[in-house]
Amino acid sequence: MRRIVVLGCGFGGLKAARELERALAGRRRVQLTVVSDRSHFLYTPLLPSVATGELDVAHVTFPIRAAFDKSTEVLIEPIEAIDLDERVLRGAKTDVAFDYLLVACGSQTNWGDHPEWRAHSLTCKSARDGVRLREEITRAISEAAELDSTEERERRLTFVVGGGGATGVELAAEIMTTFQTEVAAVVSDAVASAFRVVLVEQQERLLPTMPPELGALARDHLRSLGMELRVGTAVVDRSADEVELSTGEIIVADNFLWCGGVRAPDLVTDAGFEIDIQGRIAVDDTLQAHGLAGVYAIGDVAGLRADVPWSAHVASQQAPFAARNIVADLSGRAGRTWEYHHHGDLVTLGRQHAIAWVGETPLEGRGARTLYRLIHMAMIPTGVKKAGLLKEWLFARFRRTSRPWNLLEAEGEVAQLESEAPK
Ligand SMILES: Cc1cc2nc3c(=O)[nH]c(=O)nc-3n(C[C@H](O)[C@H](O)[C@H](O)COP(=O)(O)OP(=O)(O)OC[C@H]3O[C@@H](n4cnc5c(N)ncnc54)[C@H](O)[C@@H]3O)c2cc1C
Repeated sequence: MRRIVVLGCGFGGLKAARELERALAGRRRVQLTVVSDRSHFLYTPLLPSVATGELDVAHVTFPIRAAFDKSTEVLIEPIEAIDLDERVLRGAKTDVAFDYLLVACGSQTNWGDHPEWRAHSLTCKSARDGVRLREEITRAISEAAELDSTEERERRLTFVVGGGGATGVELAAEIMTTFQTEVAAVVSDAVASAFRVVLVEQQERLLPTMPPELGALARDHLRSLGMELRVGTAVVDRSADEVELSTGEIIVADNFLWCGGVRAPDLVTDAGFEIDIQGRIAVDDTLQAHGLAGVYAIGDVAGLRADVPWSAHVASQQAPFAARNIVADLSGRAGRTWEYHHHGDLVTLGRQHAIAWVGETPLEGRGARTLYRLIHMAMIPTGVKKAGLLKEWLFARFRRTSRPWNLLEAEGEVAQLESEAPK
């Protein structure tokens, strides 16, 4: 019996494992095993909407086991080490031996030289992060309403977002527009006027990996919302209630959201793979790890070329290729080579606005927002979740006016997710 192990069940791992399951149907001498540290698949592109209460966490998470046949073994187990010599994954409770390994365990937050910032920061990477963010925003608004001093209210209601890439821009815009559309009308003027969002990007423009036109559109729209931008400026320090910038500016803020980038997980960097300049597993164009027969990597963890972005789009493109190359190898055939196809960029700027770059054409406003929704409706797995999303979006306008404090319904959801390992 030969064993193919897929490590990680996110965008890349889920799709690759399902492709393998289909391709291996009826082959009795091959066991497919999927190992994941959490029991759900997370649809990250809509996580900022969970953070601001537009969607519930159930809209963007799916039980992994339900995605597979009985023939596929699914282990919910955090893997602590990859032993490439013994060809074994070392888990907290179990060791998982493999003949073929597909590494698809994504990325972790990059704190650079400042792991200590973690104690005073929020992130938006896991389902638990999304729910916790929502709870923290809610708490800040509620507590600010009880404060008498203007300075204290401003500190409690200032949100600094570090990192002006797609995640930082989307999250900052979601927070800003949620406050304006759902909360401002039902709080006192003192609370409404103390609310502040500051977005900090160290490169010279927002969305630095996308066409400059998109960065400019984002800048203009965010400014029109009243957001403060600090571009060409780095965050240099974070304490419990202050953020220091490279310009010397100190922003007094209780809330700091770090969206400054991701890196390959320690699990991968410690395993002895040949790694690329970004710390990812160096793979050839069949997605096989350099010098390691039968070991493949896809998604955020795979380093093919520096210009291939860390995105769900790439992980989803690579997944069927890697799966088919494993099956080809099992049958003694050569693998096919993967080529990156960039289909465009799409960024939401709050509840009603988005910007897109499709082909050579920039698109802005509700048209781009509609395109964004159509794409996510198409991409999100399962008909039930598609229907759930459609319902939420169709009724969003009605819900906003009838339940303006939807944002505040987060209490208790964190507890449900406590078992999920932090990233
Ligand atoms: C808020 C946010 C918004 C985003 N928006 C977009 C977007 O709009 N478009 C886009 O293309 N990309 C977007 N991305 C990026 C996208 O989510 C990632 O690039 C994509 O998920 C990478 O896919 P992956 O399969 O490599 O990893 P993931 O999807 O992260 O999956 C990794 C899996 O491995 C599991 N795992 C990790 N470590 C272990 C371990 N030690 N043991 C066992 N299992 C483990 C994880 O639980 C997870 O299930 C966004 C990311 C975030 C955080």
